[in-house]
Amino acid sequence: MNLSKKDKTARLVAYLDRKFKGRPIELDYAMPLQLLVATILSAQCTDERVNRVTPVLFRRYRTASDYAGADPAELEGIIRSTGFFRAKARNIIRCCSLIREKHAGKIPDTLEELVQLPGVWRKTANVILGNLFGKPAIVVDTHVKRVSQRLGLTRSDDPNRIEQDLGKILPPRRWTELSHHLLLHGRYVCTAKAPRCGECEIYPICPWREKTVYSREAKPARTARPVKRAAAKTAPRGPSR
Ligand code: SF4
Repeated sequence: MNLSKKDKTARLVAYLDRKFKGRPIELDYAMPLQLLVATILSAQCTDERVNRVTPVLFRRYRTASDYAGADPAELEGIIRSTGFFRAKARNIIRCCSLIREKHAGKIPDTLEELVQLPGVWRKTANVILGNLFGKPAIVVDTHVKRVSQRLGLTRSDDPNRIEQDLGKILPPRRWTELSHHLLLHGRYVCTAKAPRCGECEIYPICPWREKTVYSREAKPARTARPVKRAAAKTAPRGPSR
């Protein structure tokens, strides 16, 4: 379908609103620090798996001081199933020590300060900025990267460049929300191995050549998790960014 970039973006946004509007991030948290810790844990791990360990974790540690003073072996034991557990435990302890010492126990609200925290890279920082501080921020995870490439929204492989490309076409005030909706589209519809092109509502505007193959193999889509409680993922130093 030959549409201008503007019209294509409008159709994409309309679809995302129709399908995913109001859906929160899928990491469970009740307090700001919990979102930060859960996002660090989500590096190279599914939100689902993180949500299985955080109830115990959040009962055991509540404040930055609690994490800063944690026994590494005990913390590792709790988060073991999320993978890269030694690096993640180390980063959580160091990150919270820094929050306690440099930021009076509060999570900083600028990208520059956030990325100074161990275990926090740009993606994690953007999750925090957008979801805790209401600052427009585009989160580029593996789903957003794949979907953006298939939809022709970017030609880059580099998350920072993809973030810039998306920033040029999406309205800034909706960056956080729409990048989260792209993530959900990637998680539930435009999946990595078996995209559900046959039932994809934006099939007509998708330029991905292989979509015709997958459109013949349509399977019922998983439904997005129902709204429960109120995130994303970026890697700690150890796992990948
Ligand atoms: S048509 Fe297929 S490849 Fe294109 S966005 Fe939809 S699910 Fe993804």
